[in-house]
Amino acid sequence: MPDPMTYISTRGRVPPIGFAEAVMMGMADDGGLLLPATIPEVRDRLDRWQSLEYAALACEILGLYIGDDLTPEALRALVRRSYESFDHPEVTPVREVGPVHVLELYHGPTLAFKDVALQFLGNLFEQILAETGRTLNILGATSGDTGSAAIHGVRGKTNINIFIMHPHRRVSRVQELQMTSVLDPNVHNIAIRGTFDDGQRVLKEIFTDLPFKTAYRLGAVNSVNWARVLAQIVYYFYAAFRVRERTGAAAVQVCVPTGNFGDIFAGWLALRMGAPIRRLVLATNENDILARFFRTGVYARGEVRHTLSPSMDIQVASNFERYLFFRVGEDPSVVRELIDRFTRTGRLDLPGADPVFVAGSADRNATLGAMRRYWRRQRYLPDPHTAVGLAVAESFLDPALPMVCLATAHPAKFPEAVRDALGDEVTATHERTAALFGRPTRCAVLPATREAVERFIAQTLGPVRD
Ligand SMILES: *Cc1c(COP(=O)(O)O)cnc(C)c1O
Repeated sequence: MPDPMTYISTRGRVPPIGFAEAVMMGMADDGGLLLPATIPEVRDRLDRWQSLEYAALACEILGLYIGDDLTPEALRALVRRSYESFDHPEVTPVREVGPVHVLELYHGPTLAFKDVALQFLGNLFEQILAETGRTLNILGATSGDTGSAAIHGVRGKTNINIFIMHPHRRVSRVQELQMTSVLDPNVHNIAIRGTFDDGQRVLKEIFTDLPFKTAYRLGAVNSVNWARVLAQIVYYFYAAFRVRERTGAAAVQVCVPTGNFGDIFAGWLALRMGAPIRRLVLATNENDILARFFRTGVYARGEVRHTLSPSMDIQVASNFERYLFFRVGEDPSVVRELIDRFTRTGRLDLPGADPVFVAGSADRNATLGAMRRYWRRQRYLPDPHTAVGLAVAESFLDPALPMVCLATAHPAKFPEAVRDALGDEVTATHERTAALFGRPTRCAVLPATREAVERFIAQTLGPVRD
């Protein structure tokens, strides 16, 4: 019997595994992505879940997918620890703002929605490692946001070290300080003399240096880790419940600014489980491969363009394969064939449409326009990623179906975009970003070569045991 606590690969070549093993595997060993063997149906529990506070709701939802790998008490403690770092008692509050309901996902330590998943993942890694007696040395390359959320997720944790490479002087000042001001002994920042792509290249070279990778027990903080998607399912239920009780509507629609298809895939899972969500509005910036796919059925790679919303400047959405698996009738051989075709030709075609998705994209002007409108009319200042969603949502407003818009970052993380939109009219500030300036920092500046980074890792971790 397939159950939601057994994990399979989208490419069908990994024997079924449990939750903890799926979390430690990250990407599936056959190159695919891990998914629960079945999606649980929860419609008969919605009335009971409706009034739960965030942490209690999280335990109910996560518990369905975890099984015996964590006791209910361990899960409760882990969830509590993960969300007590948030600066709002509701963790992800929902605010009515003009025509929409804004789900604020930026109350975590780095002021972006990735904290919701990475605070949980850090604690989960620590728990699983403690039970197995293993250690994990995480190596990652970041263009800004994921790196800082990952660092804050694992700082101070036992049996985990983290090494994050960022391009020297090419991330924003706030992003840089969010990483380099973390002085816990298990956190190691590396500023690479080069671009983000150089960091990615060095990362790939080290991960293919198998003797080194094995000796130093290196792992990734992958954007495709199942636990990240799982943690994000919770706030879709939470938001739908809040808006139901506020408006009396039976169900809602949710607009999600996306790049990697991770966040919105969590929304799709919530919908499939039976959350009171009728439709998903997918919003992209000028990198619109996903919006084009949902409008035309053609998934075709383009050139990456730099926009006001850098965390969505992505052309190949790493979580898309999970959705593809369901669109082709859960047949791994069809997934393999389509992914192979996409890798060779940069394009795949999928006939038919999915009625639960609508999609749109917002260019620079539309994004700046949404920031100005929401500030001037509602006195609500969105960050540029959130603004992409707000701009796209306007085309899909429906009096019978309240619109939830995900706010994925606090505007104080992107003061340059706020200035572009509003000049001196308003300055985006937050006490957490203001407090960063003047703090001591620690960071190694290294050339963008495999040798330099491997030498740094070896010196930091000391001689290999065994
Ligand atoms: C990562 C990120 C996104 C995009 O999330 P996906 O899971 O890639 O869709 C949107 N907004 C912000 C602020 C982000 O950091």
